[in-house]
Amino acid sequence: AIPLVIAISTAMSARAGILVKDRLALERMRLVDAVLFDKTGTLTKGRPAVAGVAPVPPAGDDELLALAAAAERDSEHPLATAIVAAAAERGRVPAASEFRSLTGKGVRAVVDGADVAVGGPGLLRELGLESPSEIAMPVDEWSKAGSTVLYVLRDGAVIGALSLADEVRAESGRAVDALHAEGIHVVMITGDARNVAEAVAAELGIDEVFAEVLPADKDAVVTSLQERGLRVAMVGDGVNDAPALARADVGLAIGAGTDVAVESAGVVLASDDPRGVVSARRLSQASYQKMV
Ligand code: ADP
Ligand code: MG
Repeated sequence: AIPLVIAISTAMSARAGILVKDRLALERMRLVDAVLFDKTGTLTKGRPAVAGVAPVPPAGDDELLALAAAAERDSEHPLATAIVAAAAERGRVPAASEFRSLTGKGVRAVVDGADVAVGGPGLLRELGLESPSEIAMPVDEWSKAGSTVLYVLRDGAVIGALSLADEVRAESGRAVDALHAEGIHVVMITGDARNVAEAVAAELGIDEVFAEVLPADKDAVVTSLQERGLRVAMVGDGVNDAPALARADVGLAIGAGTDVAVESAGVVLASDDPRGVVSARRLSQASYQKMV
């Protein structure tokens, strides 16, 4: 026979849209003292759109966008999808060859015989380049607004920048408030630039931010929090979140997360509402406090 508490909690979890893959993970959920949220696709919708185009003269808007789109056409990153869509609206996207993904940094490809790269401030720094003074004004404005800034390079020179805006989910702020009400330390992790991360964190009242984290280093952030004595729940959606989800005391995959994220998580939230973390904690409390 199935013990009554388990039968009750299974019914509760189904109603709350919580799929428990690992019962021990659910049990640990009530003891968690920090929740680490991935930013893109978890706290934000993860569907960025091109919001600004700033070519360095003599390059033009359409030329800049077309070149960037050509380099991005073989990338599956949401930033790439947004750039290709914006360029296609304005005309033809040129062909490219020798596509290479620079994980967590950008892309590179050959377009019309030129070496084209698209990437964030991290890529620029790595190449020893500076943001051009001709586009300082828009870039500064975008950064302050918390938009993602991507630079477009042709044969090693910056020929312009694009701004991409993603929307914060309406429920994210309430998830943070509910966790704070239970005394939980709320942390955000992202591969995105520091200015974007801090703008989102300030909007949501997040306590601590890890920005510009490469995909391979996300799980080390979980470990560093654990070394501070915190029991950590990690919430994420992407392939690059999988090792961190596995490393956390409780890994929660959100919404239509990638298969890899779902596989690495102990708990899967059916909807993409970050408040599901709070429900998972309630479920954990209801299921396990009764048993002891
Ligand atoms: P997140 O943790 O926010 O999902 P990623 O690790 O996927 O971030 O990407 C981190 C950063 O790397 C992006 O903010 C961007 O600057 C750069 N980047 C990643 N993929 C691309 C791409 N296809 N084109 C341009 N820039 C990219
Ligand atoms: Mg993500």
